[in-house]
Amino acid sequence: MKTIIEKVDVVVAGGGTAGHIAAIQAGRLGVKTSVIEAGTMLGGTMTAGGVYMPNHFFNTRGPVVQGIPWELYIRSKEIEGLPIPDYQKRRPMETPGYYSYINVPVYAAIAEEEALLAGAILHYHEFIAEVKAEGNLWEVTSFGRGIKRVTKAKEIIDCSGDSDVVRILGLKVLRSTVSQPGTLQYKIEGIEHEQIWKEEVQKIYEEAMDDGTLKKGDWAYPNLEPFQYYLAHGGHNGTHIYDADTSEADGQTRANIEGRARMLRMFKFVRTSIPGCERATLKMMAPYALARETYHTLGEILIESDDFLKAVDFEDKVCNAFNYIDMHSQETGCEVQFLKSEDLLPKVPFRALIPKDSRRITVAGRNISANRIAFAGIRAQCTCMAMGQAMGAAAALAVQKNAASRDVDSRDIVAVTIEHGAVPL
Ligand SMILES: Cc1cc2nc3c(=O)[nH]c(=O)nc-3n(C[C@H](O)[C@H](O)[C@H](O)COP(=O)(O)OP(=O)(O)OC[C@H]3O[C@@H](n4cnc5c(N)ncnc54)[C@H](O)[C@@H]3O)c2cc1C
Repeated sequence: MKTIIEKVDVVVAGGGTAGHIAAIQAGRLGVKTSVIEAGTMLGGTMTAGGVYMPNHFFNTRGPVVQGIPWELYIRSKEIEGLPIPDYQKRRPMETPGYYSYINVPVYAAIAEEEALLAGAILHYHEFIAEVKAEGNLWEVTSFGRGIKRVTKAKEIIDCSGDSDVVRILGLKVLRSTVSQPGTLQYKIEGIEHEQIWKEEVQKIYEEAMDDGTLKKGDWAYPNLEPFQYYLAHGGHNGTHIYDADTSEADGQTRANIEGRARMLRMFKFVRTSIPGCERATLKMMAPYALARETYHTLGEILIESDDFLKAVDFEDKVCNAFNYIDMHSQETGCEVQFLKSEDLLPKVPFRALIPKDSRRITVAGRNISANRIAFAGIRAQCTCMAMGQAMGAAAALAVQKNAASRDVDSRDIVAVTIEHGAVPL
């Protein structure tokens, strides 16, 4: 195995939803940035994971996340030849958000193109396994096939989703005794919907649950919607894997195996038992199962439920966090709680992205320091991307000022992101 030493200013740990935007922002600010990504492409959950629905660029009042995420979204729509949805058209209050969809191959390719154009160095297929401080530099050791890479960097942005770097460093993390279920994304196509009689389908589904053909969680949301809904979406995002733990390889393996077993069981049931599904085909399966919630970083502040629900206007806010509370569980399937007023626009404080008692490291995305309820609202993709942009700016400013990211003024971070298209706060 060869050992490679690489010197950069900023290392982005994980090039997923938050990480790819962090890298583009830092790179565009002229600091030498590398991304170490265990997977095969940029975008993480929103591309490789098959969750191609970034929420929310807009709320009912106007834009809430723009900047680099919106720029990539617009470019991907241009390449696809598709119009940008009219986000001024109001949706009903029951679903106070504007859903967006990306095309995974197009988006992953342009994210990569933009990251390279910004000067970011991309390392796929590498896992970060060790991190230590050597004087004023971090030494981040990652392993890939035939490669051991030691990256020396001034700043780290942990965008691993499971707080990997924070855990390696022994900094404080939070993990609740219960966590939201995970999901393996797949899609069944070829369902002849006009052949399907809703009441009959519901009866067949309930019988299959009673006689054990199907298991709890195969259709995750029976509390919210009839089985017809599952068919209407071809099963997409419709199955739960309880206790999915992607924070270590054994847990990831178990979740993958269980997800695929659930998928196959459901597909066999749908194709052989539901009239109108005889010609159904299993069209898409994400390569790995996803967790909604594992380890959160304990930051300099913990975002509490009311901070989110009452949209506290934090002095050190760095981006918006518009969403509803989207709490998946084994007991109920899913419960949602909307903000009480359309005027409420929750914020992410910088301190929730600084690991407690740390220097020269920030986090973005699912790693955020928040309690379970607030987290169930903050974890949406546009917020994760906006956090990524803000922390990319924070790391670059720190390098330029020869300071630590935690000492950068949040107002300077916001000013830089606005220069790069973000929504003023
Ligand atoms: C099933 C499901 C459905 C969802 N539905 C929606 C939805 O409809 N709309 C919405 O807006 N949000 C949705 N969410 C929430 C949202 O997708 C996630 O919260 C968000 O994508 C997390 O972004 P992230 O950047 O924190 O993590 P990720 O996007 O998962 O990125 C983490 C990256 O880090 C890499 N990585 C991890 N560890 C290491 C390591 N040690 N070394 C190197 N690389 C590493 C991973 O390979 C990955 O690419 C959903 C989530 C799930 C699980």
